[in-house]
Amino acid sequence: MSIATFHAPLAWTPSGWRTHQRLALDTRGRFAAADTDGPAPSLSGGPVLPGLPNLHSHAFQRALLGRVERAGPGEDSFWSWREAMYQVAARFDPDVLRAVAAQLYAEMLEAGYTRVCEFHYLHHAPDGRPYAEPAAMSLALVEAAREAGIGLTLLPVLYQRGGFDGRALGERQRRFAHDHDAFLALLARLRREEARDPDLRVGLAFHSLRAVDEAAMRGVLAALPDPSMPVHLHIAEQVGEVADCLAVHGQRPVRWLLDRFAIDARWTLVHATHLDDGELAGIAASGATVALCPATEANLGDGLFPLRAYLAAGGAFGIGSDSQVSVDPVEELRWLEHGARLGSLKRNRAALAPGASSGETLLAGALAGGAAACGRAPSALAAGGEGDLVVLHGDDPAFAGVAEDGLVDAWLFGRRRPGVREAWRGGRALVLEGRHVRGEAIGRAFRAAMARIAG
Ligand SMILES: [Zn+2]
Repeated sequence: MSIATFHAPLAWTPSGWRTHQRLALDTRGRFAAADTDGPAPSLSGGPVLPGLPNLHSHAFQRALLGRVERAGPGEDSFWSWREAMYQVAARFDPDVLRAVAAQLYAEMLEAGYTRVCEFHYLHHAPDGRPYAEPAAMSLALVEAAREAGIGLTLLPVLYQRGGFDGRALGERQRRFAHDHDAFLALLARLRREEARDPDLRVGLAFHSLRAVDEAAMRGVLAALPDPSMPVHLHIAEQVGEVADCLAVHGQRPVRWLLDRFAIDARWTLVHATHLDDGELAGIAASGATVALCPATEANLGDGLFPLRAYLAAGGAFGIGSDSQVSVDPVEELRWLEHGARLGSLKRNRAALAPGASSGETLLAGALAGGAAACGRAPSALAAGGEGDLVVLHGDDPAFAGVAEDGLVDAWLFGRRRPGVREAWRGGRALVLEGRHVRGEAIGRAFRAAMARIAG
């Protein structure tokens, strides 16, 4: 049975652009058919793409804009940024988080993201004590996603120590902490929510190898109620993190992980910026996905990911908005390619075969890598794909005179204005004429929340 059917004059399918596609949704909100038969209501006429998965988000960091770009007393780094980030995090409660996340998720939909993996570690009250409802902050994110209509893969984070040497958490990190039993209780609570919400997928995350030790990781993995849950972790974002891991374990972080755990397609390694050749080949062969967040990685001075070598080894990747310095898949994919060009002094780094398009390679890769990381069906305009789609402005000057085989390149490398006209999930319109359908009410609540935490 079909709950909605669209006619797309031009649609990006797994086999490239196709004209006059009929896209029917089944009762689960997935595409049941993508063929050319029969009449159906028309979308607004622009090119239709699958919705993009956002593999890495910390929603509360949306509140950092305008607070972290001023020089400090010493040399600024990721670690000085982190102190400013903790100060903002300390002002969040469940109501503020719900309002900020709803605004962020509406902005994601307006930019073409239709599902987000939320890497969530802001669990408790600022003094470290659990809220009366211990899952209150997680549930605020679930409610925000429902309000905006974005698909949510919620990844509660296990965070237990302040560094590789086992030091205790700092005062501002106390609200991130769980012991084994409390963490599993949180997962169980959220899985009850998942059972009644078809848009929600619950996975888990280990914050990083510096924040969780091997025994804790093993204990949680062995106790999971569902062995197919997606597992994410920050892995090698900073050179300082690699040096600390070498000093304590005698191995680099990715090597240490690959040697100790059965890393496979259910794992997503966030950033993986600093890799040696063996680590790169090891991730690519494992089937894990690397979540790359090029705008954040640039903003925080992390470094450049070895994109071309990783793609040549067959590695899977997706993109994420991470610190929300950019909430736009176009910017992430453009930065990914341009970073690789700047680092190599060469062009067309993602496209490996002669004649291949950089834009189409990046888009197809980000869509393919998103499925396993989100723990969902692929976002694809084809039978079995998630029923998520975005419609670009067909009359955008960026597309004037551009043939079909140049459309994705024109979108990713030439767009100067917001390019998404509509976003739909499961037959429901969430963005029309470039604006979120509930944007005004969500925006009002967001401004009130930001006023509460200002200063
Ligand atoms: Zn992160």
